[in-house]
Amino acid sequence: MAQFPLSEFQKRPTPFYYYDLGVLDETLKAINEGIGQSPYHVHYALKANANPALLTPIVAAGLGADCVSVGEIKVALNAGFPADKIFFAGVGKSDSEIDFALDAHIGCFNVESLPELKLIAEMASNKSIIANVALRVNPNIDAHTHHYITTGLEENKFGIALEMLDDAISVCLRQPNIRLCGLHFHIGSQITYMEPYRILCERVAQLMKKYSAQGIRFDIINVGGGLGIDYDDPDSQLIPKFKEFFDIFRNNLNLAPEQQLHFELGRSVAAQCGSLITRVLYVKEGVGKKFIIVDAGMTDLIRPALYGAHHKIENLTSDSSLTDEYDVVGPICESSDCFGKDEILPVTHRGDILALRSAGAYGEVMAMGYNMRPIPASVVS
Ligand SMILES: *Cc1c(COP(=O)(O)O)cnc(C)c1O
Repeated sequence: MAQFPLSEFQKRPTPFYYYDLGVLDETLKAINEGIGQSPYHVHYALKANANPALLTPIVAAGLGADCVSVGEIKVALNAGFPADKIFFAGVGKSDSEIDFALDAHIGCFNVESLPELKLIAEMASNKSIIANVALRVNPNIDAHTHHYITTGLEENKFGIALEMLDDAISVCLRQPNIRLCGLHFHIGSQITYMEPYRILCERVAQLMKKYSAQGIRFDIINVGGGLGIDYDDPDSQLIPKFKEFFDIFRNNLNLAPEQQLHFELGRSVAAQCGSLITRVLYVKEGVGKKFIIVDAGMTDLIRPALYGAHHKIENLTSDSSLTDEYDVVGPICESSDCFGKDEILPVTHRGDILALRSAGAYGEVMAMGYNMRPIPASVVS
């Protein structure tokens, strides 16, 4: 069971994010144990949470960084990630972002289109340097997750279609300022069922076979991230099943000698160590319904409004053994500003403190100032 420093919470203004670094440390330990002796490397996807308090232990555990903007690259460098362990992904890298990343000598660009590849080649040539490039392939795999977070289908904007991969590879081989170091895949997020990863292994093996017959070798195969977590019952699985995840690849993908398998995990690293802590402002009787109105809203945690996601809600202060049914809503002027419908909770009163669990990933980083609200603080222990 998660432990919360409740007396500490009661002294503070709400809402705020709370991170339990003990849980994060256990998570990082489980990742390194799951990797064992395999030539596997995990890059942490900073877009899930770039709070420096989390990045310090992530750097210490030896993970690299997967960044999707220059802002993230700068945060990663400041947090102490070595430049060669920073990878730069994203469909829309701007000229100035590429310029910065080349000067910073980052480890690799994950390139998503031919025009981007040509621009990187031209800019690297102007600087007389060689850019490491991995081509992001759209493998056309259905990750069976929410349609907003599935990314590996042909209809998605991400990656280079399989049909165009030959062209992209020959552009790389012709460009003296490009070093083609790998292939990159990322099929989606919050994937809880391992079958899509097994299919990904098959696709990757087919491509490796095809290109090795042409004498083309990839030092790095990057299979992206997406490992899901248990939002319904976080305490039953505070540490995601990393061993099972890595085993899918160990059992289904034979690497060539010296070849490395890279992963870009975000949610599974950061989600379970974080909660959004909020106070109950009012308990309001509606017609046939009771509402708990809390001081956190979709501006602090947008996942429910954006993806229809649900975070487990716990009342940390009610000592009532009786329960009631409530809709838990925020103060923002949007009907989608709702954290839960028909939630069964202990009888709740104004002033109670609630935790929205599993909020360490895609929570604080997505906070915004709509309604001129402040960005929530963070508390770490
Ligand atoms: C978002 C993203 C990730 C991380 O995904 P998680 O589901 O948080 O593990 C990894 N790689 C790429 C390219 C991404 O866009």
